[in-house]
Amino acid sequence: MPRLPNETDLEFRKRVLDSKSTSFCGAKWYNATIWLGSGMTTSCHHPPAHFVPVEAIQRNPRALHNSAEKKRDREMMQRGERPPGCEYCWKIEDMGRDAVSDRVYKSVIYTDEELNEAYLLPTAEDANLRTLEISFDRTCQLACSYCNPAFSSTWVRDIKTRGPYINLVSDGRNHFTHDHASAQLYRYGEVNPYVEAFFRWWETDLHKTLRELRITGGEPLMSGYTWQLIDWFKQNRGKSSTRLAINSNLAMDSEKIQELLDACEGIELDIYTSNEALHSQAEYIRDGLEWDQWVENMRLLASSGRLRGLHNMCTINALCLESLPEFLDFLVEMKREFGRDFPNFTLNILRFPSFQSPLVLPDDIREHHKQRLMSWMVKHKGYNYLHEHEINHVLRLIDYLDVVKTPHRETFERPALHNDFRKFYEQYDQRRGKDFPATFPGLANWYSTLYD
Ligand code: SF4
Repeated sequence: MPRLPNETDLEFRKRVLDSKSTSFCGAKWYNATIWLGSGMTTSCHHPPAHFVPVEAIQRNPRALHNSAEKKRDREMMQRGERPPGCEYCWKIEDMGRDAVSDRVYKSVIYTDEELNEAYLLPTAEDANLRTLEISFDRTCQLACSYCNPAFSSTWVRDIKTRGPYINLVSDGRNHFTHDHASAQLYRYGEVNPYVEAFFRWWETDLHKTLRELRITGGEPLMSGYTWQLIDWFKQNRGKSSTRLAINSNLAMDSEKIQELLDACEGIELDIYTSNEALHSQAEYIRDGLEWDQWVENMRLLASSGRLRGLHNMCTINALCLESLPEFLDFLVEMKREFGRDFPNFTLNILRFPSFQSPLVLPDDIREHHKQRLMSWMVKHKGYNYLHEHEINHVLRLIDYLDVVKTPHRETFERPALHNDFRKFYEQYDQRRGKDFPATFPGLANWYSTLYD
């Protein structure tokens, strides 16, 4: 087991990670997200993704993960230096309250021996992946406010038919101004060498060493390659001990979810979904989602008896805080009905686009939400259906709202973010037929002060 009995997250960090180096993180060796549509990869969700040249993966499909950039970051971590791309973790650790960053959560899932091996691995050598998140393409039926055309074909359609969002000054990466053609280098039906390399790698050795394969999107249930992989698992029973997991927005008829459950009969499966607000607020943030349908699908999955786990990943943004405590109550109610892992949850703080981060909110509103979360914590702490990581995620969000007052590196100052907050949601309302002040009454007054 990676932890000693009764060892806390912080104790684990000090014993296993910091004893190697104070910047060591197992995710750099053993975890990857790979976008096959664009040939991009990263270690966890936080560092910016980077491109892997096609020649590299044609020579060696393992280069989908073992890129030159990751090898350089590993070397930095072995020397105790902080790779700049991991700023998310450094920001949390620098809060000075022994705050537990994702460096711990992304490492604690590996054994002490695996982490020792990673630390000692010569930089030039390839690491064998243990946990992988893979995206085949960006086909998706939703266009969430903090997503963009790189990850959603519905966002592509929005930009292509209505043009770019205008007058945004902090969107340095131009998320909302073009269709991100580079996110899909190959047309549907064309041979994609990255997909080919992945299946080559999978068939030869990846299926032997990988512990968890998580398929993401777009919406993976809309990609034929997802169903192809499910078929591989069915036809090769016993050949691989890799656990299969699927990220799904669950914004579809329950028949499709039932089809998935039937197709995965006998396969160990985890479903990861995302939501962080209730009813119309969720539908506003996640454009295209129907709250009732999402709840119906959550209940279908939780009651199916076929899943290893059902996970909800909350993306903590400026808009969700208003109904977040009640949304967490909803998750707790489901736990009471279906068990501790149906669902479990994580709170992941949105950084980009930075004008949608909780840090754009004025101090009094942030303080108000902090107090509400503290009350939620008092109400639920000690409740044994909550996992330690769930309690810690709520506590660290409380800390974050309290301590981190400046936006992250690479972002603009508050006036620019406020300008973009207002300009973006005005256009979003107009394009998507929505109404910000009516949907978020707790923010309406402040929003009205953001006029030119
Ligand atoms: S951002 Fe944090 S969790 Fe992700 S690879 Fe870097 S140190 Fe690890």
